[in-house]
Amino acid sequence: MEYITEPERRIPVIRDVDVLVVGGGPAGLMAAQAAAEGGNHRVMLVESRSYLGGNLTIGLPVLAFLGPRGDQVIYGGAQRFIDRLRARGAASGHKPCKLHMSLTIIDPEEAKNVAFELMEEAGVEVRLYTFVSDAIVEDGVVKGVVVESKAGRQAILARRVIDCTGDGDVAFRAGVPCSKGDAEGGMQPPTLMFSMRGVDVQALRDAIVLHPETYDMDRMPAEQFREGNFITVGLRGRIEEARRSGLDVPVSRTILISGLKPDEIWVNMTRVNGTDSTDPESYTRCEVVARRQMRVVTEYLRRFVPGFAQAEVDKVAPFTGIRESRVIRGKYILTAEDILGGKHFDDKVCLAGYPVDIHHSRGGDCSMYFCDDAYEIPYRVLVPANVGGLLVAGRCASMNHEAMAATRVMSTCMALGEAAGTAARLSLETGVDVGSVDIPLLQQTLVSQGVRLV
Ligand SMILES: Cc1cc2nc3c(=O)[nH]c(=O)nc-3n(C[C@H](O)[C@H](O)[C@H](O)COP(=O)(O)OP(=O)(O)OC[C@H]3O[C@@H](n4cnc5c(N)ncnc54)[C@H](O)[C@@H]3O)c2cc1C
Repeated sequence: MEYITEPERRIPVIRDVDVLVVGGGPAGLMAAQAAAEGGNHRVMLVESRSYLGGNLTIGLPVLAFLGPRGDQVIYGGAQRFIDRLRARGAASGHKPCKLHMSLTIIDPEEAKNVAFELMEEAGVEVRLYTFVSDAIVEDGVVKGVVVESKAGRQAILARRVIDCTGDGDVAFRAGVPCSKGDAEGGMQPPTLMFSMRGVDVQALRDAIVLHPETYDMDRMPAEQFREGNFITVGLRGRIEEARRSGLDVPVSRTILISGLKPDEIWVNMTRVNGTDSTDPESYTRCEVVARRQMRVVTEYLRRFVPGFAQAEVDKVAPFTGIRESRVIRGKYILTAEDILGGKHFDDKVCLAGYPVDIHHSRGGDCSMYFCDDAYEIPYRVLVPANVGGLLVAGRCASMNHEAMAATRVMSTCMALGEAAGTAARLSLETGVDVGSVDIPLLQQTLVSQGVRLV
């Protein structure tokens, strides 16, 4: 490869804040809100897109507010976010589900509105259209970031930084060791979500309830589809038939999510294997392929799935959603054994209930491994192994491939974000770095904010 050398240049410092959160997805929103709690600290949230919410805005239900035993495990800021949506008819309750523990349907557009409102109320300064391209590190401690925008290259200094970019962008630039995917680097494939309207949802329900042998559902009893919200995961036989007829359906299971409108269904069925979201060339190809797949999936649904004959595409997510990319190496790396074995951690900061759910990096299938009860996630997964001043929350926290396949759901990411924001705040108040936060104090504070830890 050819290189050029950039001339040294002075860049303006546009802010000097107490806590800087990078990335306004489920983790970042909760991190910023928790860091700003009490109003004693200047908190800033930087987001590269034109709105807040990250994957909360692409048409996904929030999974696993409830745990394997049916009791609610995620509370705190995440629950208050849903409460706010529910108060305006923009979210459902938490519907139990044998496969996903629970699903909570949300309106993607209202999620963006609520995100702005919450940041404003918390006193968080939001900066959109701003991409964090580098980390400022001095003597092994992160002191801020470099941003790029229409205003050029600028610096934001911060006493604590929380990386909620999903891809671990800040941590990676700060020199934190990161990894991607399984032993061969295989990552779960991305999906372009889209919705269809004009669906005869009752016809789909009836088909599943009356003919479970044809409209088979993975692990979920047909009864679950009789009423209320649902996610179909199955209809494998229908896909095989479509494939025999020449349609190149990219996935083995028909995944459909009921919307808040009676004739609306969100479709989770494109899969672009081999995508690396940290490589723009790869991610660009992914967007093009996903659009092509969307046409195939639409045809499959119209021809092979009851209720879709007259349905039309209504909304398409603004970007293809990334299930997996970089994760950092933290002070502890969570494993699937920890999750499935219910390992106890003295520094737990989150309970979660979602199973290990790995969409294969090749082919179009999935493997799931279930736990008996909610599991604990330790604070150390948020703390990078080798730099100070930085916490990392959301799907890029310190987990191996299998563990992140469980903790990646949005309810858990929100809870991890709240833990990181609270820890950053306490570290400033007690005058210690984030790696030395008083754990009992952090746990008590989280509980006082409504978080469930036992
Ligand atoms: C197709 C798909 C289906 C899924 N299904 C479900 C489901 O049904 N239910 C569920 O609960 N979870 C589901 N998940 C998982 C879940 O959506 C994600 O794991 C979760 O949203 C991760 O949250 P996060 O806050 O870590 O990251 P994100 O939601 O990705 O948010 C990251 C934010 O950071 C911003 N950002 C990134 N880099 C930078 C930068 N350098 N500078 C500035 N801003 C930056 C992004 O624009 C984004 O707003 C699914 C994921 C995908 C992709």
